[in-house]
Amino acid sequence: MKINENVSLKDLNTFGVEAKTKYYSEISNLLDIEALFEWKSKNNLPALLLGGGSNLLFKNDFDGMIAKVCLMGKDIAKEDDEAVYVSAAAGENWHDFVRWTIDQGFAGLENLSLIPGSVGAAPIQNIGAYGVELSNTLHSLQAVNLETADILEFDKELCQFGYRESFFKSQALDKLLITSVTFRLPKKPEWHINYAGLREALAGEVLTADVISQAVISERQRKLPNPSQIGNAGSFFKNPVMKVTDFETLKSDHEGLPGFPQTHNDEVKTSAGWLIDQCGWKGHRVGDAGVSDKHALVLVNHGNATGSELWQVAEDIIASVEGKFGVTLEPEPRVIK
Ligand code: NAP
Repeated sequence: MKINENVSLKDLNTFGVEAKTKYYSEISNLLDIEALFEWKSKNNLPALLLGGGSNLLFKNDFDGMIAKVCLMGKDIAKEDDEAVYVSAAAGENWHDFVRWTIDQGFAGLENLSLIPGSVGAAPIQNIGAYGVELSNTLHSLQAVNLETADILEFDKELCQFGYRESFFKSQALDKLLITSVTFRLPKKPEWHINYAGLREALAGEVLTADVISQAVISERQRKLPNPSQIGNAGSFFKNPVMKVTDFETLKSDHEGLPGFPQTHNDEVKTSAGWLIDQCGWKGHRVGDAGVSDKHALVLVNHGNATGSELWQVAEDIIASVEGKFGVTLEPEPRVIK
């Protein structure tokens, strides 16, 4: 494992924020994982595992090791009468992997097209879009415990998935290096096209994984800023989930408040983007830090914003939504202090 010192992170995070890491390495094989384990056991410094850098905000320089997971490879692991099982190494680009499964004739991941990031980072966040979460199709994943060097296998239950949550985010952050992920893709697909935008785009279409994927791609390109053109990390806040009674009270004061009843409990999810928009934040800009004019949920770096400046915008949004609605927004990306 080659270790570089004082490396710029600007090209390694989709916000395009300038920050430096004291040490930087790339993990491309099992020997590199062993070397990282050795490094961790000898150095009393934090080590942060990096995927596509699409869900991070660096507020400051990082005084430790950033190890980018570059493990590559994908294949059809097995097949039975009902499903195919496909595996991908953690460093594979998520969207390229989704398109590869569709090109093989498989369905199940189409709604998750064009989500930025890597395969290995996807379970940490339990990425989701258009009514589908990664947990719908995840079968198992493999990881290495960086404190013991044990190689571990997690089935879906052990992953403890929730709304943009998992065991890897809550209890095992930076302790486990996810090496590969296996998905179970049913041969009899179930389409999820109930979200506004997608439903209209697909009306009258013969549904296939490819047709749905193309509609999701168009919808995301229409509504979301492209990180290669303007720095951003996708949705910056989670959609708040609350008790039905609290939602009804809030709605009686705020006409038009969107609400989506949760299927597994008596709670309602509302739209963080709507709440932020109502506070007038869409298109807001202070220096180079701001809010997208396409989508109020997305913070953007117009060029040279620092992580602290972007975080200040996030804090101001949280305070104003709390003031107007009494709802506390939580950031979706990981904020590195
Ligand atoms: P939208 O249509 O403006 O709706 C706002 C929110 O309401 C959505 O985020 C969604 O929550 C919820 N919602 C909308 N229709 C729903 C339905 N039929 N059933 C249940 N919940 C519903 O949303 P958008 O911002 O354009 O995003 C569309 C999808 O792409 C969403 O699923 C969103 O999560 C996903 N997305 C994710 C990211 C990311 O960075 N993670 C970025 C952009 C978009 P959910 O978010 O819980 O689905």
